Amino acid sequence: MMFVLLFGPPGSGKGTQASALAGRLAVPHVATGDIFRKHLREGTDLGRLARSYMDKGQLVPDLVTCDLVASRLGEADAAGGVLFDGFPRSVPQLYWLIGHLAGKGRALSAVVNLRVPDELILGRMTGRRTCTNCGATYHVVSAPPAADGTCTRCGSAVTQRRDDQEEVVRDRLVAYADQTFPCLAQLRDRTPVHDVDGVGSISEVQGRIFGALAL
Ligand code: AMP
Repeated sequence: MMFVLLFGPPGSGKGTQASALAGRLAVPHVATGDIFRKHLREGTDLGRLARSYMDKGQLVPDLVTCDLVASRLGEADAAGGVLFDGFPRSVPQLYWLIGHLAGKGRALSAVVNLRVPDELILGRMTGRRTCTNCGATYHVVSAPPAADGTCTRCGSAVTQRRDDQEEVVRDRLVAYADQTFPCLAQLRDRTPVHDVDGVGSISEVQGRIFGALAL
C-alpha cells in the first residue's frame, strides 16, 4: 500500500516527475490541478468555481479540494495507493488527508520534496506551454512542441496556461510559501521527507527521486 506525496514549488518539474514515478510505483497519479483543469474544460460548476481561484494564483478552498480528493480515493484503482501531485497544499488539507487515510487503516508511505531555487522558477514557468488535450508540458526553449506548435504526444494544440503568466506565477509562489511550505514543515515531524535537488535534466532528477525511494 503506497501513499506517496510529491511536493515542489510551481515550476519544479513536479508534474513531469510525478507521471514517471507513478508508473514506477504502479499507482495512479492524482494531480488536483489536472482534475480542476479537466472540470474547467468540461465547464462544470466545480470548474467555474476553481477557475476563479486558479486565475488569481490562489488555492481553491480546502473543503472543495478535500471533497474532490475523497471521491478520487473512492475509485477502485486507488485502493492500492496513489501518488499525490499538488496535494496537500495547506496544513488543513494535510491533516484532512492523514485523518481520511487513518479512517481506512492506512498511512502516508513517503514524501518527496523537489527543490528548485526561486531564481530558476520564473523562467521555467513563463516559458512553459501545455497541451490543451492531454496535459503534456513543453518549454519554449528547452523542450519545444512540434514545429507547427502541436503536441508531439497527441497532436492537439499547445498553449500557455492562463496561470503561467508572470503576474499569476508570482501569486502562486506566494501561495506556496504561505500555505504549502508550512504543510511540509509539519510533515517533517511525522514522516521521512526526501529532499531532492530538482535542478538538472528530467532523467537526472528522475534518477535522484528513484534513488531516494530506493526504487
Ligand atoms: P497545479 O497544476 O498543481 O500547479 O495547480 C494549478 C492550480 O490549481 C493552483 O494554483 C490552485 O489554484 C489549484 N490547485 C491545485 N491543487 C490544489 C490544492 N491541493 N488545493 C487548492 N488548490 C489547488
